[in-house]
Amino acid sequence: MANSAIVGINWGDEGKGRMVDLLTKDYDVVVRYQGGGNAGHTVINEQGKFALHLLPSGIFRKGVVNILGNGVALDPENLSKEIEEVTSKGVSLTPENLKISDRASLLLPWHRELDGLEEERLKDKKYGSTKQGIAPFYSDKYQKKTVLAGELLHPEELRAHLQDIMEWKNLIITKVYGAKPYTMEDLDAWINTYCEKIKPYVCDTRIFLREAKKAGKNVLFEAQLGSLRDLDAGIYPYTTSSNTIAAYAPVGAGCPSIKIENIIGIVKAYSTCVGEGPFVSEMFGPEADHLREVGLEYGAKTGRPRRVGAMDLVATKYGVEVQAATEVALTKLDVLSDLDKIPVCVKYEYNGEEINEFPFPTELNKCKPVIKYVPGWKKDISHVTKWEDLPQEARDYVEFIEKAIECPITYVSVGPERDSIIYRK
Ligand code: GDP
Repeated sequence: MANSAIVGINWGDEGKGRMVDLLTKDYDVVVRYQGGGNAGHTVINEQGKFALHLLPSGIFRKGVVNILGNGVALDPENLSKEIEEVTSKGVSLTPENLKISDRASLLLPWHRELDGLEEERLKDKKYGSTKQGIAPFYSDKYQKKTVLAGELLHPEELRAHLQDIMEWKNLIITKVYGAKPYTMEDLDAWINTYCEKIKPYVCDTRIFLREAKKAGKNVLFEAQLGSLRDLDAGIYPYTTSSNTIAAYAPVGAGCPSIKIENIIGIVKAYSTCVGEGPFVSEMFGPEADHLREVGLEYGAKTGRPRRVGAMDLVATKYGVEVQAATEVALTKLDVLSDLDKIPVCVKYEYNGEEINEFPFPTELNKCKPVIKYVPGWKKDISHVTKWEDLPQEARDYVEFIEKAIECPITYVSVGPERDSIIYRK
């Protein structure tokens, strides 16, 4: 075995959670290395159906240690609620199987509020934020205006540090946005209600990972969102505020010396995108509504209907490249089962030419999809577990994508349940 990362190739919501849940049986440690509670993984297993936002998907496997690395946006309010929710359904979380890096920065109460205030100010030019405070959080992290989770273990210093940051932040909240200032009473209530609940899990995860590495343990890195939402590689400014790509995983996990041998990119059999931003292969009308209904394409966090579109080979090939994916898991193939013919965006038309390189973000809105239809299979495939048992048209569809993205498709997922998977290795 070796260290692996499971990452999104497109806009997110590709089904990463179900793949991590499936593959954690082969790993000792699962690490979330970036992002916050602004997106969600849906995991369905024998313990029930769970919408995870911040907790690593390895929490359902006995013996797996789950780590929230220094790269995540650690929101004590959301995390403590999520811990309560999963433990109330019988999942066991202890400092033995959940560890929070003491160097993870905390998402503070005003971050969520500032997200809403800024989107309101932007009006029709808004970025489509999930209003979980992620962009204000990361801006403050890089301005060094937030606190580290490890400070929870030193309450006196924590209060003094928060007081200083609050005074600065209140200037912005009151003078720029005309909103109500925060008080130390607000922050004390926040510490007592939420931070106290996550404090037992805070430790030096760097030492844990170093020792795990020495002991030859296998580490799985779990990402949120996908390549096209990566702050540096994605469709800026409609990206998230962190790095979703696998190259960031060792840094965001807090163990830069760890080598990742396998990068499993997750691709959905068609495209979806939540929120704003360019989406070249977007479909509208009854064809789109049908896909949204069959695929249950509504945001795990927000319940927002997802925009849906044809498989986009230009964006997907780019996503595979920036993730440096070594293999791909294609999910939700079953959702396409009742289509007579399946649309695939094979190129973009840009300035009168057909292109297959993913263009600069500002140019995406000028691109039109070049659509090719491939035959559908019109059969229920949700119980198929062997590649040979898939209808020929379904195998052709998978192989067509594989050739175009130049990366082996090693798993095909045909249902949300743990075992609805075809191995092609
Ligand atoms: P993630 O953030 O990448 O984990 O993706 P989401 O959890 O937002 O979206 C994936 C959704 O699709 C979840 O509701 C999964 O249960 C579901 N899902 C995953 N794989 C499959 C599949 O192969 N077929 C079907 N029908 N649903 C799937």
